[in-house]
Amino acid sequence: MYCSDLGEQWHAARIEPTIAHLDSAAAGRSSSAVIDTITDHLWREAEHGSQVAAQEQEQALARGRRALASLIGHTPDELSYRDSARSCLRVLLHYWNLPIASTVWVAANEFGPNLDQFEQRGIAVRAMPSRDVYGHVDVDALENMLQFEQPDFIHVCQIGAAGGVVQPVHEIVEVAHHAEVPVVVDMAQSVGHVPTVTGADIVYGTARKWLTGPRAIGFIAVRADAIRPVTIESSERYVAGALGLGQAVAELQDIGQQVVYRELAHIGRTVRERLTGIASWEVLEPVEEPSALVTLLPPPGWQPSDVAAAQRRLQESGILVTCADSWRAPLAGEQSVLRISPHLDLRRSELDALAGQLRTMGY
Ligand SMILES: *Cc1c(COP(=O)(O)O)cnc(C)c1O
Repeated sequence: MYCSDLGEQWHAARIEPTIAHLDSAAAGRSSSAVIDTITDHLWREAEHGSQVAAQEQEQALARGRRALASLIGHTPDELSYRDSARSCLRVLLHYWNLPIASTVWVAANEFGPNLDQFEQRGIAVRAMPSRDVYGHVDVDALENMLQFEQPDFIHVCQIGAAGGVVQPVHEIVEVAHHAEVPVVVDMAQSVGHVPTVTGADIVYGTARKWLTGPRAIGFIAVRADAIRPVTIESSERYVAGALGLGQAVAELQDIGQQVVYRELAHIGRTVRERLTGIASWEVLEPVEEPSALVTLLPPPGWQPSDVAAAQRRLQESGILVTCADSWRAPLAGEQSVLRISPHLDLRRSELDALAGQLRTMGY
């Protein structure tokens, strides 16, 4: 009945949801152990005093930091916590000593609010060429371009917010480093979802999505030699949240990160196969794209408000997905899409119910 062998175990570790939760790309469902880790610490803070409680948990905090650092291919001392991925990028751009009128190259799936931040700082944005209609970066063409011109940095969303395409970050880093161009990776949709040891210079992401950690925890890791030493850590810490994030990463590692990545890829494929050819909805990724983030283009002629209405109808029928409007990936087009992002406990019956609803809404 679950689409993955891990589904039952993963589901049993969490409270029973009141809806078919296919919305990990917005926020995943935390396990009961993650929630307990957070609340236990909040109680300890009131009992022992916040500073004392934090000192008592120093080893657990260090363990969580090591685990997350290894997941993203950095060292623990390169890692800082903030309240969100967006604020990580904001502090990075604030402290990074970039030349005036600098340039960044991005991929077709770049997150709209990131583009706004580049614009606010006067950083000129240029799109890297894609090798296909899905928007995968054309690494050969990029290598060629880099021989003639080098941006101040390359910024890439390993997975964007409005499509399940997984960018070839490893290859991008390789050709960029050959040209001595640093690479920054937005891992908000990829950490806990696909392999994230990429060799990039600076990476950042968030706890709440595929890692199913707490809300309001973002992280950034800056390779020691990438930019001059700066303090990116905020002065105040959400200690309970950091502990909860550590617990979430530990759970991922207990299952085995490669196992999770493989099963999520399997789930994405299952969803795309099931939803291909439903009325005139169109699956936007290659069926075999190794991610569990699936987007559907609505039937021809639909306006963004129609897609929003479809999302509401699905929610009323007990299925939670996102209507992803074009601000999330403005370089990829103007269409709103339905974003379906189940985690490991996707059930066949949920997928069938979704397909059934979509059939009644399309033509
Ligand atoms: C969600 C998301 C972000 C922003 O994450 P926050 O923690 O909400 O700031 C950034 N980039 C991508 C690709 C995202 O999906």
